[in-house]
Amino acid sequence: MEQDTGDSEDARGPGWATVTTVEAPAWRAALLRDANVPRLPELLRDVFGFDSFRPYQEEVCAAVVRGDDVLLVMPTGAGKSLCYQLPGITRGGTTLVVSPLIALMEDQVEQLQALGLRAERIHSGRARADSRNACRDYLDGNLDFLFIAPERLRVPGFPEMLAKRKPTLIAIDEAHCISQWGHDFRPDYRMLGDRLPLLRPAPVIALTATATPTVQDDIVSELRLVSTFRSIHGFRRTNIAVEVVERKPSERLAVVKNILADAARRPAIVYAPTRKESEETAKELSKRFHAAAYHAGLTSAVRSEAQSLFLRGKIDVIVATTAFGMGIDKANVRTVIHTALPASIEGYYQEIGRAGRDGLASRAILLQSFGDTKTHEFFLERDYPEESLLETIHDAIGPQGTTTDDLVRKTRMPRDLFEKALEKLWVHGGALVDFDDVVRRGASDWRRPYEKQRAHKRTQIDKMQRYAETHACRMLSLVTHFGDQNDPGTPCGSCDVCAEATCVAQEFRAPIQQEIEAAYRIIDALVERNGRAIGQMHRDLGEKSLDRDSFDAVIGALARAGVVRVSQDAFEKEGRSIVFQRVHLRPEMHVTPGDLRIIATPKRKGSRAGRERKSGSRGEREVMELPALTGASLVVDAALRAWRKEEARFRKVPAFRILTDKTLTGIAAAMPRDEASLLRVSGIGPSITERYGKVLLAIVARSA
Ligand code: ADP
Ligand code: MG
Repeated sequence: MEQDTGDSEDARGPGWATVTTVEAPAWRAALLRDANVPRLPELLRDVFGFDSFRPYQEEVCAAVVRGDDVLLVMPTGAGKSLCYQLPGITRGGTTLVVSPLIALMEDQVEQLQALGLRAERIHSGRARADSRNACRDYLDGNLDFLFIAPERLRVPGFPEMLAKRKPTLIAIDEAHCISQWGHDFRPDYRMLGDRLPLLRPAPVIALTATATPTVQDDIVSELRLVSTFRSIHGFRRTNIAVEVVERKPSERLAVVKNILADAARRPAIVYAPTRKESEETAKELSKRFHAAAYHAGLTSAVRSEAQSLFLRGKIDVIVATTAFGMGIDKANVRTVIHTALPASIEGYYQEIGRAGRDGLASRAILLQSFGDTKTHEFFLERDYPEESLLETIHDAIGPQGTTTDDLVRKTRMPRDLFEKALEKLWVHGGALVDFDDVVRRGASDWRRPYEKQRAHKRTQIDKMQRYAETHACRMLSLVTHFGDQNDPGTPCGSCDVCAEATCVAQEFRAPIQQEIEAAYRIIDALVERNGRAIGQMHRDLGEKSLDRDSFDAVIGALARAGVVRVSQDAFEKEGRSIVFQRVHLRPEMHVTPGDLRIIATPKRKGSRAGRERKSGSRGEREVMELPALTGASLVVDAALRAWRKEEARFRKVPAFRILTDKTLTGIAAAMPRDEASLLRVSGIGPSITERYGKVLLAIVARSA
């Protein structure tokens, strides 16, 4: 649904970390004395104060010390940072850390400084003089760690400055941001691949909590890692019981209230699909609980207040969009609820992973229905326009270049759709756009990568939906999705498939006669040939009494009773991977009708038909033309355009990368007087507010 992660450079106000001057610690002297004898366990104790390594840390540290490139994928909280911090110290010199969030950077620097390490950071939130000092310290060799935001590497001369004194280790945190197949792609990460060679030969360690095998490969190739040591571990969370429940949107709020009524299920994070719903749900829940909303459309003051109240236990329910969570460390979250289907398994896994960091029993409950998928598909169509529309723009570009205004006229596209399509064309190299918004034709090989990206987005939605429908163990499905290297592959024993009796939100009923009969027919069919696909079996059995959905529900009941095991399989069709489920009989198990519990949800109407629809049919596209401006708004609009042009020229990017026409006109129409009303303009989030908020408000005030 709505991408609500626009806070890449999070605001935290001034006065973050204070520089502490410390005596050179004893371990440093020891390290200098025998630099070639890295004793990792001693350093772990002396520098970090930890008694022992957590799983996989030692072997990863050893690989980095050796000088191998490393890809480390472990869940949040597993202790990835140590895997560059400890080797960084052992290797001597400065470790360069690339990190996408200012808040994360500040936390890390603060922690390292508190340990007596010399850590500094350079990012847009700091005064120029402070950044300059950090550069000087770096060049003088006075830093153990230098943290930078990825966009720094685009500043002319900056990578060259770093290269004057090469780092001894390079760590790329949140490395999934480099992959456009990841769930949080950041274009600024893309240039890392180009800039890193300048800073080599230091080894590179890429760290992330969320990378499927595809994303893992992408990280390795984009960063040009060589003979990479890959460590992919720890995705199984044994203390989170996962429940996936089908509920109509109108029923979900009541279910949430019920779940949270038990105090043992709080503190809780409720993930809502949109900003609006996050506010509405928070308002409703506030009647009974200490609850607050959190999303990217709130001012940074309101957001940090909500976050801090939650961390301090002053409120125990936070109703958030996906903007909430990165870098949040609250150990005792008992429940994570999703009130709609997430857009990808990667995002979903990250979000449920915020439950039970303290190791105590916790629960993750997803409330969804098939209609949620439609919403995602709608946004997909909107945010990734069809290839043919990009083609239309590409063809309309004249040999000398054409302005965007002329292109809008020539292509007759609605402005917002045009901007989306042009942006994609530009991202994939099919168009070159200068800061004056003159568009020139780019390379012609943009189609394949664009189609691939679009197909990938669609696959993510498909997989999420299949996950919601599966009768296989939830945790095992997640672990398999991430390709964990050492997972035992056993069912979790606590999800809604493995332990129906402990379900909190799922409701069951006894089977009716037709369902019981179908259950025995299914078992017979599997005795004959095991491992059949569900759809195939439904057809083969010539199932008359039960439609496909009810048939599916019976399989679910058999799976929960332990008589069958369901696994996922896939085949390729027209370049897309189609996932389906196979059913395996466990012959040692027996079932009586009394064991069968059917999910008590009203039957889904037409869902199966919808699922089988071809991708060619799509929902009505909402055409939104720009509002007509009058009076003072026209003056503001012109002033904003003039400013945008200057800014684009200065930053050497196309104007639409500064602000789209739609957003710009939205500001002119709304004439915001303060940050809060600016944030209500569609297209404005925290990152734009932080970067341009003051300027934009000043322009409005001046011109109005
Ligand atoms: P990640 O980056 O994987 O999300 P962090 O590196 O932030 O996780 O570590 C999570 C927490 O675990 C931190 O508070 C860190 O100090 C702690 N930690 C890391 N390694 C160890 C260890 N070997 N022993 C005890 N605590 C550790
Ligand atoms: Mg981390």
